[in-house]
Amino acid sequence: MPPDFSPSSGWGRSIQSTSLRAVDSIEEMQEKLVNLEGHRGALPIGLQRSYGDSALNSGGVQFSTEKLQEWNLDRETGEIRVGAGVSIRQLESIALDQGFFPAIVPGTGFVTIGGAIAADIHGKSHHKTGSFSSIVKSMQVLYSDGVIRELYPDGPTSAHFWATVAGMGLTGIIVNAELQLKRISGNYFDVRESRCADLSILLAELRSADSEYDHTVAWVDLSGEFRGRGVVGMGNFATDRDEKFGLKSRSINIPITFNKSLITPLTVKSFNSFWYHKPLKSGKLSINAFTHPLDGIGSWNRVYGKRGFLQYQFSIPDGHEDFLFTVLSKLREIKGASFLGVLKRFGSASRAPLSFPSPGWTLALDFPIGIPRLEATLTEFDQELCQRGGRIYLVKDSRLKPDFLPKMYQRSEEWKTVRAQMDPGNKWKSDQGRRLGLC
Ligand SMILES: Cc1cc2nc3c(=O)[nH]c(=O)nc-3n(C[C@H](O)[C@H](O)[C@H](O)COP(=O)(O)OP(=O)(O)OC[C@H]3O[C@@H](n4cnc5c(N)ncnc54)[C@H](O)[C@@H]3O)c2cc1C
Repeated sequence: MPPDFSPSSGWGRSIQSTSLRAVDSIEEMQEKLVNLEGHRGALPIGLQRSYGDSALNSGGVQFSTEKLQEWNLDRETGEIRVGAGVSIRQLESIALDQGFFPAIVPGTGFVTIGGAIAADIHGKSHHKTGSFSSIVKSMQVLYSDGVIRELYPDGPTSAHFWATVAGMGLTGIIVNAELQLKRISGNYFDVRESRCADLSILLAELRSADSEYDHTVAWVDLSGEFRGRGVVGMGNFATDRDEKFGLKSRSINIPITFNKSLITPLTVKSFNSFWYHKPLKSGKLSINAFTHPLDGIGSWNRVYGKRGFLQYQFSIPDGHEDFLFTVLSKLREIKGASFLGVLKRFGSASRAPLSFPSPGWTLALDFPIGIPRLEATLTEFDQELCQRGGRIYLVKDSRLKPDFLPKMYQRSEEWKTVRAQMDPGNKWKSDQGRRLGLC
């Protein structure tokens, strides 16, 4: 390993890479960018909660945004200028203190504002709010020429704005962003859960929940009989306060990485059976327990052992629900049990060419590395997604073949043209970008 280079991996821990990690101020980043040498380029990174190789840049520089922590909230309007290195968890805490909340939050709070914009993330509210870019009013981006420019969703800078949203760090470093927070009067969620015996019932329940609830999600059992039974979780922000709740959450940490994966067909089946039969929640729930349930166990990715795991998340338009049943039966055939299956409905798409969500359904599945025939089966799914107007989520990806990208993201050529204007020297690089021909 060259001196000063250090190893890193995404949340799935299945791909290792070594790069020069720089924890710099903006001025230091500007200077390094102008003098950047070598062809392995540079990449901004946040908390590396992307699963595969989106935040890796083997042999190049990784610019950590952890020093970008400033924020300034207008307590009247709920507009906040926030540094790209601030996490969603921190943002929630700042906002809640003043009676606001971000309308879109992901399943974990350990995601930076930069990472949230660069992947145009979605939350349980997508059917009502759309993705993260819908609350971004402007952002400052450090270009590869060392200049910081302010970008807006409309007007002369809009093409650069929308190429940076979901642009996977390949257009520049988001330095900070102005976000519109939502005013809230309560400090907890009113929730309801419902148990569904198979996938048809689950799909119907999710559809009907969407009109009444601002936040919906389903956990699906992808083991045992693979019937797609599951539990739908629904919630609305409460309109009153209860000091017993708020952002409170308990957390335990998994201190070591196990040699072998603890996730086996038997443990997956037992966990899913337990989860399906657990008592259903109803009534008041603290914000974190509802929005970020997985954060209750720190470093849970270590249970997959040294080989790690992959997440496969796809979207599929309305009218193609039969594909979800195909996925169940093909996974059953290869005994490809997924520890965690999460199903959600998507509302309107954003204007960003590489943004993932589009109207319909999304399913996320976690698999330990090493399931026989899994890769071939996922490639079959990829092919079918291309034909049906579906796609996979880049920030979860570690394995997609480059030929599929333009079929899934039909505006990727448009994105590349704008990217070439923003970064004529082609300095922004990632392992995923190289694999998929994005940089
Ligand atoms: C447990 C868990 C639950 C999750 N739940 C959801 C969910 O519900 N919805 C969802 O949409 N996603 C979800 N994710 C994925 C996560 O939101 C994204 O991977 C997010 O991009 C991670 O942010 P990060 O700060 O860790 O960025 P990183 O993983 O470090 O980087 C991700 C990408 O963003 C780019 N990037 C990071 N910072 C900047 C910056 N300042 N400027 C420009 N580019 C930048 C990187 O180059 C890279 O391409 C989940 C992840 C985990 C681990």
